[in-house]
Amino acid sequence: MDRLFNKVQFLKGVGPRRSNNLGRLGAETIFDLFWNVPRAYFNRDNCKKIAELQIGENASIRGLVKGTRLSRSRNGMHIFKVVLEDSSGIISAVWFNQPFLSGIIKTGQELFLSGRLRDSYRIAELNVSEYEIIENEDQNAEIVPVYALSEGLSQKFMRAVMLQVIQDYLPYYPEILAKNIREEYGLCDIAFAFSNIHFPEGGEAYLKARKRLALEELLLFQISLRNEEKLAGDYVIHRVKSDLLKDLQNMLPFELTDAQRRVLQEIYRDMEAPYNMNRLLQGDVGSGKTVVAAMAMARAVASGFQAGIMAPTEILAEQHYLAMQSLFSGSGVVIARLTGGTPAAERRMITQALARGEIDLIVGTHALIQDELLFKDLGLVVIDEQHRFGVKQRALLAAKGKAPDVLVMTATPIPRTLALTVYGELEISVIDELPPGRKMVKTRFTRPSAKNKLYSFMRRELEKGSQVYVVCPLVEESEKQDLQAAVSLYEELKSGIFPGFVVGLLHGRMKSKDKEILMKEFKEGRIQLLVSTTVIEVGMDVPNASVMIIEHADRFGLSQLHQLRGRVGRGTRQSYCIMVAEPKTEEALKRLKAMENSNDGFELAQMDLLIRGPGDFWGVKQHGLKELKVANLAKDQKLIELSRELAKKLNTQDMEFCELYIEKKFKKTEDIAPN
Ligand code: ADP
Ligand code: MG
Repeated sequence: MDRLFNKVQFLKGVGPRRSNNLGRLGAETIFDLFWNVPRAYFNRDNCKKIAELQIGENASIRGLVKGTRLSRSRNGMHIFKVVLEDSSGIISAVWFNQPFLSGIIKTGQELFLSGRLRDSYRIAELNVSEYEIIENEDQNAEIVPVYALSEGLSQKFMRAVMLQVIQDYLPYYPEILAKNIREEYGLCDIAFAFSNIHFPEGGEAYLKARKRLALEELLLFQISLRNEEKLAGDYVIHRVKSDLLKDLQNMLPFELTDAQRRVLQEIYRDMEAPYNMNRLLQGDVGSGKTVVAAMAMARAVASGFQAGIMAPTEILAEQHYLAMQSLFSGSGVVIARLTGGTPAAERRMITQALARGEIDLIVGTHALIQDELLFKDLGLVVIDEQHRFGVKQRALLAAKGKAPDVLVMTATPIPRTLALTVYGELEISVIDELPPGRKMVKTRFTRPSAKNKLYSFMRRELEKGSQVYVVCPLVEESEKQDLQAAVSLYEELKSGIFPGFVVGLLHGRMKSKDKEILMKEFKEGRIQLLVSTTVIEVGMDVPNASVMIIEHADRFGLSQLHQLRGRVGRGTRQSYCIMVAEPKTEEALKRLKAMENSNDGFELAQMDLLIRGPGDFWGVKQHGLKELKVANLAKDQKLIELSRELAKKLNTQDMEFCELYIEKKFKKTEDIAPN
């Protein structure tokens, strides 16, 4: 097995230079090469005749290059076109934004092309997704792998290297699944899998190989999660000793929804049990997670413990603080708040009181995980909007107690497949119901040219007593420009467009004190129109606000749009979300349409996953999920469930290898910084 982790230089024909090139592809060892799976295949037998191609069809063709041309479109895009001929006819093939191809593909060469045939101004054109130059028939096989390349590497070289890897090293690749398990679940063995993912004998063999390798990745990923969260053996048992909970329940300003009651039962059960709670609470925006957190914390306090809740922004922490104060008013529970903006003297007092056990419940930001902060007896940790935190930060807060129960909450609905994978170590509770009386948020997208119409709509709503948010997006990832856009919009709106109404500006660079004041003013209705950068994205709760205007909405992802929309529709007023955009891509348009058509966060998240892929999904980076080479989180739902099942009951045949594998593959990535 050790040979598997040999450097790629051990291979014939791979010198220092090429091993560098392979390194750039992420392949440093033989093991990495095994997992360097083809990004496509050419099926030589499946090539179509040019004359047979249909518009809209994905197909492969083979022919002779009769001519090439590099040009630029009006908006500056490079367009490379090739005229290709076979015995049946002639066709034009096109690549976008790859001008360097003009130095690679030349008249007189023979090519394989795969792509989609489209109608371009009435002329059929092949939009190329894969190409290959045929050089003296170096392969006889029908199905030929196409690998990702980096500078200085050719397909021919990669195939030769991979052939060598499969021929010489396959016997050393450990099989971790026993024969009976493979048979039970219809899985092929690992040798067959690697050999057929790289050099498929046929379509069916490829599918078998793919299934096994996708499962292999998912399974090891699951095992890695379990390793990380090894149960420490310590736990707290929450046994209620006072009437606090009952009192609190009686004082709630509303009836809990059935879903809230159900998740609370799940949480209570964990809290009372002799094991550690590690639970994820999922609920769409506005579903009422805060009160659930409050009840859980009340249970901890009623059992004689301290509880803490950590939020990603000062604004949210402030809001939670206000919510807790009002929920717990008159109960005698001592609540404190600690954020980056807390003055030093106050911070010192809080630190002391917390250590002496005089504070029951603390609300805060990252300030809660500083070293000097100690609890007397921390029994429950709640983390809100957990995707804004790294795994490490969650662990740091939990480490402030002996073994506190942990509840993490997220308003970003995670598609089930992703949740099962990312949070393999967590149990999941879902609030799948909104409090009664909520009206659907009417969602429309409009072009910037319709600004005047938009302003008169906003004015009408303001006159009815509603409050309005206007959000400007992050411009090119730069906080400064982000701010500028918001500032100039603020100036514009303030200067006479909405006479008689107070306009406010909220952004990330304000002092926390000022943010706090502004937020309070908006909450209390003294500001009617709030212009903001995306700092309000999470959690703001102002039930009287009923209009959300999102500027440059095409720059946001679906989940984020949905989050923003969730700021309205929290009260009984009919609410509106207007997305102002000039979508430039089909994808952007798709997102806006999806928003118009669905109010369901889970549905949208699933769509987002399909449109964007998990690579970009918030917070996913920290988990090494992008290291998955074969498995597809959006599509391999069944395999994900199987991997969870297997991970629970598996005695793998080769634990030593599993650990090595996990270390090499999933432990590379670090925690992301909170934003
Ligand atoms: P989120 O799940 O997005 O964090 P919040 O906890 O902020 O949602 O709750 C959204 C709003 O709904 C708040 O104003 C809260 O007081 C209210 N709310 C929560 N639960 C209920 C309920 N069962 N009935 C009526 N209103 C509720
Ligand atoms: Mg919330």
